[in-house]
Amino acid sequence: MTNPTAAELTGRPRADALRAEITRLAAELAQDGTPPRLAVVVATEDEPTAWYVRSIARAAARTGIACDTVRLPADASPEQIRERLSELGADPTVHGVILQTPLPEGSVAAELADAIAPEKDVDGANPLSLGRLAAGLPAFAPATAEAVVQLLDAHGVVVAGRTVAVVGRSTVVGKPLAHLLLDRDATVTVCHSRTVGLPAVTAAADIVVAAAGRPGLITAEHVKPGAVVVDVGTNPTPDGGLVGDVDAAAVGAKAAALSPVPGGVGPITTALLLRHTVRAAARVL
Ligand code: NAP
Repeated sequence: MTNPTAAELTGRPRADALRAEITRLAAELAQDGTPPRLAVVVATEDEPTAWYVRSIARAAARTGIACDTVRLPADASPEQIRERLSELGADPTVHGVILQTPLPEGSVAAELADAIAPEKDVDGANPLSLGRLAAGLPAFAPATAEAVVQLLDAHGVVVAGRTVAVVGRSTVVGKPLAHLLLDRDATVTVCHSRTVGLPAVTAAADIVVAAAGRPGLITAEHVKPGAVVVDVGTNPTPDGGLVGDVDAAAVGAKAAALSPVPGGVGPITTALLLRHTVRAAARVL
């Protein structure tokens, strides 16, 4: 629970609004003979991943999007994964393709993502999508990165002219988010595990985005009074729950606003994967 002194940046209202729009578009597409379909390629038996994929499938079903879980063995080779991605690229009934991580040993998502057809790359994983994003050209952005911007927008947080510290530099979250924020005229600092003096760097920022996958990494000393804090982290707890990267009690007492985990970035991320899928089906970026 977020401390009551900080406003709660919940993602649910924006996710609900997106879902309503997606449901309408999916119905129109189906009526026009193009029922939207998403394929999620899974090559792991990891239970949190299975839970996440089920949650995408449930959300898809609620909006009228077909969602196939395409299972490969947990010891699938990179060649097998690449071949399956190419087949999905060639299948005209499939509009969106996601390569779910973790992958089997020996397979690296970033090295396989170029096998996802760019026009079906609804989680912005193909290097072509990332390159276009960096160049300021139309592309599907990784859904989590875009979800952070949508969450801030939904709560009226202005990023133009403000300083943002992004903690994490992955190609899934940190790097694409930096580009999206730069496009919105923010001044962005990207931090990582080799950043020296992280608390001082983040405490200088108006907005802090934590995307490191380290529970409790961001404490009160990392945040200036009145800052806005977005917690992207989703770290499983032994009792089957989820916690973010932010010490919510300590930071909530100091920040102006903090996103909860779960219920912040996550619901918007799922909705954006579906929005990208209907856009891919409609051939609109
Ligand atoms: P990742 O690939 O493991 O990247 C983590 C990043 O955090 C790396 O850049 C790493 O630095 C940095 N980092 C790690 N420890 C740090 C520390 N002590 N101080 C500063 N930086 C540190 O993870 P990811 O895929 O980007 O995911 C990040 C988090 O977001 C995870 O908890 C993940 O579960 C969550 N996530 C949530 C959603 C959602 O929808 N809510 C979606 C995707 C991911 P180096 O580069 O130096 O190693």
